[in-house]
Amino acid sequence: MEIQQIFSKISADEIARLTSNLVRFDTTNPPGNEHTAVEYIAHYLKPYGFELTFLEHEPQRATLLARLKGKSQRGAVVFNGHVDVVPVGAGTWQHPPFEGVIEQGKVWGRGSADMKGGVAAMMVAAKAIAQAQLPLEGDLILTATAGEEVNMLGARSLAQLPEAQHWQAVIISEPTSNQLGLAERGVFWPEITTYGKTAHGSTPELGINAVMMMVKLLSELEKLEIPFQPHPVLGNFTRSVNTIQGGVKVNVVPDQCSVMVDMRTLPGQDHAQLLGLLENFLAQLEKQIPAFKASIRLTYELPPAETPLNAPAVQRFLSAAKNHAGVEIPIIKVPFATEAAILVPALHVPTLIIGPGDPALAHQPNEYVEIEAMQRAACLYTAAAIEMLSPENPPAT
Ligand SMILES: [Zn+2]
Repeated sequence: MEIQQIFSKISADEIARLTSNLVRFDTTNPPGNEHTAVEYIAHYLKPYGFELTFLEHEPQRATLLARLKGKSQRGAVVFNGHVDVVPVGAGTWQHPPFEGVIEQGKVWGRGSADMKGGVAAMMVAAKAIAQAQLPLEGDLILTATAGEEVNMLGARSLAQLPEAQHWQAVIISEPTSNQLGLAERGVFWPEITTYGKTAHGSTPELGINAVMMMVKLLSELEKLEIPFQPHPVLGNFTRSVNTIQGGVKVNVVPDQCSVMVDMRTLPGQDHAQLLGLLENFLAQLEKQIPAFKASIRLTYELPPAETPLNAPAVQRFLSAAKNHAGVEIPIIKVPFATEAAILVPALHVPTLIIGPGDPALAHQPNEYVEIEAMQRAACLYTAAAIEMLSPENPPAT
């Protein structure tokens, strides 16, 4: 069967309906409650020969792995997307966030762009490939994960599967307006605390003011050089002090003050080394400033992740897009952290981030995804998977 014939089976209406139905599962994380949403996906794929495995995390929470068996041991091609969504927030919504209203060529609602529209496009692509009954050299796997928005629960369990070491490529349908992201910055969030000694506010000379110690620390932190190599796509390492907390009352000398710093790291920056550099910085301040005392605690981190442009899986994806869908796919910077941060370091698997939603709408009120963009994405996923699993092409890895 020609690929164009398979494309003709990819129905925009069906993708829109699936997206709308997925939006209607309230998978706000926390708490997530992804189980019913991934069961819905499993139910959709089952009639087309997919083997279904649920990785159970907690009651009401699971990640789905749906597998269409290939003939040989070639590495699987994985379609991946998360089904949890961020909270609705305080903004007003033109359409109710969990009704999945279809209007003006768009599906509206929380999670439509990030990323139930991408998941729906992958479901329809997976079904189209199964129905075509092509000889596939490796498995086609669709994974619908739990927990991406908080702690990458689902991706962490996928990374532990022994078979995942052999995967050929992972395509993640996070919103990129159908452009290809191969690299993302890491997340490094230390909390730094200064300590003092409390005293009555009227006798500050008897205390040590932790807030004023923090003032000194921050002015030195501004000047601290943190080495990095600017990245051609990702740009620079960045840091920003984004919260500060100190003191309890106007008439009490504060004995503690904490800041949280948002640092975004680049491929090549090692997080353990970065933490060591900051610890050393604090130790230096203890020597220089009388009575200075501080500590650092890493509250969250995700490593930077990068798949090289010349990876065979990437080249095959780009040529499939060009040959079968007639599009040159631009390469972009992924503006946020994705499950690639877990999968790439653990599996060294080429990971391609490309999905139909507009990244600017992720986590925003009035989120929507365009139906036409979802249909285009579904064709891209279909063409890429067929190329990667075709007996006519040599393995890409
Ligand atoms: Zn997302």
